[in-house]
Formats: sequence, C-alpha cells, structure tokens
Amino acid sequence: MNPQLDELKTRLRDIAALHNAAALLNWDQLTGMPPGGAEARGFQQAVLARIATEKSVDPALGKLIDDLLPLAESLPADSDDACLIRGAKRDFDKSQNVPPEFVARAFEQIARSYQAWAEARPNNDYAKVLPELERNLELSREYSAFFPGSDHIADPLIDDADSGMKAADIQRVFAALRAELVPIVKAITSQPPADDACLKQHFPTEAQLAFGKKVAAAIGYDFNRGRMDLSPHPFTTRFSIGDVRITTRVREDDLGDSLFSIIHEAGHAMYEQGISTTLEGLPLASGTSAGVHESQSRTWENLVGRSLPFWQHFYPDLKAAFPGLFDAVPLETFYRAINKVEPSLVRTDSDEVTYNLHVMIRFDLELAMLEGKLALRDLPEAWNERYRSDLGITPPDDRNGCMQDVHWFGGFVGGAFQGYTLGNILSAQFMEKALQAHPEIPDEMATGKFSTLHGWLTNNLYTHGRKFLPNELVQRVTGSDIQIAPYIRYLKNKYGAIYSL
Ligand code: ZN
Repeated sequence: MNPQLDELKTRLRDIAALHNAAALLNWDQLTGMPPGGAEARGFQQAVLARIATEKSVDPALGKLIDDLLPLAESLPADSDDACLIRGAKRDFDKSQNVPPEFVARAFEQIARSYQAWAEARPNNDYAKVLPELERNLELSREYSAFFPGSDHIADPLIDDADSGMKAADIQRVFAALRAELVPIVKAITSQPPADDACLKQHFPTEAQLAFGKKVAAAIGYDFNRGRMDLSPHPFTTRFSIGDVRITTRVREDDLGDSLFSIIHEAGHAMYEQGISTTLEGLPLASGTSAGVHESQSRTWENLVGRSLPFWQHFYPDLKAAFPGLFDAVPLETFYRAINKVEPSLVRTDSDEVTYNLHVMIRFDLELAMLEGKLALRDLPEAWNERYRSDLGITPPDDRNGCMQDVHWFGGFVGGAFQGYTLGNILSAQFMEKALQAHPEIPDEMATGKFSTLHGWLTNNLYTHGRKFLPNELVQRVTGSDIQIAPYIRYLKNKYGAIYSL
C-alpha cells in the first residue's frame, strides 16, 4: 500500500465524517427539532462546516493530491483509487475558491432562512421571508463571484449540483424538450380529464405509512440500512452507505401525495444504498449529481410506480390496506387516476407530463433573479404570471405559489431545479438500456419482482457512486450524451395508450 494514498484516504474520510455529522444535524432539524433550537443549530452546523472546509482547503492536502496524480495516471482509469485521486483534485481545486468564513456565514444564514420559511409559509406571509430570501440571493451571487471566468452567474451554482453542466447547455436541452412537450400537454388537456376521485377519499395516516413502507421495501429499499420519518417536505439523506433515510408527509384526503413521494425518496435512497462498500466513508460514496439522482427517484416513482404492471401486482394489496375504498374501482380506472394529466399549482403534486413545465418556470426565474432582472419583491407576481401563461392557472396565494418549494429558502438561489428535469430525461434513457438488456422487466414487475431492474441499476449506475462525472456516467451506461428522444418516446407510448394522442 502506498503511504501517501493511505494518508489521502484518512484525510478525506475525516472530511466526509464531518459532512455526514452535519447531515445528521440537518435531518434532525427537518424532522424533529423544536423551533427554539434553530439558532444554536445554525451555529453548530456552521462550526462543522467551517472545520470541514478548513480541512478541505489545507495546502498539505493539495500537495498530497498533486503528489499522487502520477499514481492516478498509472492506474486503470476507472479504478477506485484513480477516480478518488482525480475527484479529490477536482474538489480541492474548487474548494480553494471559497473562503471558510463565507461557508460558515452561509450555513448560519440558510438555517435562519429555512426556519423563517417554515413559519411563514403556513401563514402565507411572503413579506416575512422576503428579507431572508434577499440575503440568500446575495450569498448566491457572492458564491458565484468566487468563480471568475464563468460564462453565466448561475454556472458555479449549477456545477455544484450537476457537475459539468452550464446554464446555456440546459437552456438548449430545455428548449428542445419544451417544443416536444407543449403539444403533448395540449393534446391531453383538450380531452376530458381522468376521474381521480378514488384517490381523494379518506385514507388514515397509519395505513398510508404502512402501505408505503411495504411498497418501498418490495422495490428494494433496505430498512435495515434506512428508516422513514415525517417532515413538511419529503427528502432523502445519508450518513453512510449503511444509513440512508427518507421522509414523507401525509395528507389523509389524498392517497397519491404520500405514496408516490415515498417511492420517489426510496428511489433516491436505493441509489445511495447501492454504492459499492469499497467506497464507504470516502467522498466518492454518494450519488454523482442532482440530475442522475433524480433519474433514479423518477425511475421508481414514475416508470415503475405509475406503470400498469406495477399495479397489476400491488392493486390487490392496496385494496386490502384500505378496506372498501376501492371495491368499485377497476384497476384501469385507478391506473388512469394515478396518471391523470392536468395543469396544477404545486410541482410536487403535478403529473409527469406537466412536471417539467414547473421546473422550467423555476429555472428561468432563478436565472432572472441572479441576473438582477427580477427584484425579489416582484417574485410572487412574476411567478403567478408564468403559471398563467405556461399552465393556464393562477396561484390563489404565495403558499401555493413562490413559497411552495424549500429550495430557495433553505439553500442558494440557483442550480436547485434543473436536476429534476434532467432526471426525467435520464430516467427514460437509462430505462431503455435496462429494457434492452432485460426485456422481461415489465412482466416481472407484474409479479412483484423488482430485483432484475434493481440489480441492473445497481451494477451499472449505483455501485459507481461519484467515481464518474455525470456526463461520463451517462456515456458509459447509454453510449451517448444526454438525449431527450427516449423520454419523449416513453411519454408518447404511455400517454398515447391512456389518452388518444
Ligand atoms: Zn427527488
């Protein structure tokens, strides 16, 4: 064993442990912490972040990495160690740009802002969070300025989530997708809407959580290495490959809200649980980008969880979980209900066809805010205007308008949303490959077997963690760069069968 490589791993494991401890504090803040803990928690997180940053920018670490670059060159390019050294080099170079003082300040501000949002949103009080959002936007601009030479002010923020992607690339992909999507949405919404009354009955919380857990376990989420809690906004977090947690929220008058968010978060978590244990504790032991991560949550939520074979298997279980409620509902009616396409106010409630329009609105508004073309006091009206023009509906309040998503209030403004639509696009691109290798997957799902698909995704995607940049991984798995064609084919096939297109 190379002693310098050993030292690199020791240093990187220490840094990762600090990040994972901070993630645990964050999970606690979002699931169970009383509001009175917010200020101290912000300080605690800031301290952990500062120590992690100090270790990340230590010149001795930089020298160690540089000394090891020849070793990385001499190893097989896709070996764990070569990828670790190259990844460490990328992370180190990037961290050099951001002063530790800024990181600590940003953590404190964002914790305060999140708490303000959590209190203001139920009261529909945009004015109360406006000053916090102003500070978050200022921090976002300040962060971006640490990376001079960027083509666009949003690029450094986008790069943090979807490494290697730029605002201009995304605008191009989104424009092509929008051109295909709008006629599909028009064709569907000009027909009578599906009847989804069966999803709007009374579903007791306990029964919903029990059924959701059963589904998550069946598709492959390992509860021995995970758990599920409640939070206002569902999310997945990880502290190690052996501890990957999900959260959900429950609405007793809407079956889909919790069920599909559980399947969605389980998809994120299965990606993290599927990372090779040879990478445990190292910075490579996490998903490679927001977009690839989202491709997995959407694969399980939509391509699997909203498919007909999936419900051919689970519908009898659902009927048993909610006695009487589905006696008069044929499977076909239920399937159309969970795939109802209808312009709606809330991104996380929206169907998979209109979903991307929600994302594009947020992406465009982010760019406008960062560019200084949109004053934050005008955000609610700008938001509502885009919902009128793109989806033909007007939010009745800010709670279901520009305050609905945590992202801008619990993080930087910018780079937060493009991953959702990149994920939708990639989910179909990966699934086409999986189906080429295993055409039996849909038939297996109809019998409750998900291990072939889960195994293929684990071996081709999950196991690699962050070893490869997103574009490299997409190339490796599909043989091409990101392509919208498989996603459009998927939508046309599925919705062509449900609606007449
Ligand atoms: Zn997600």
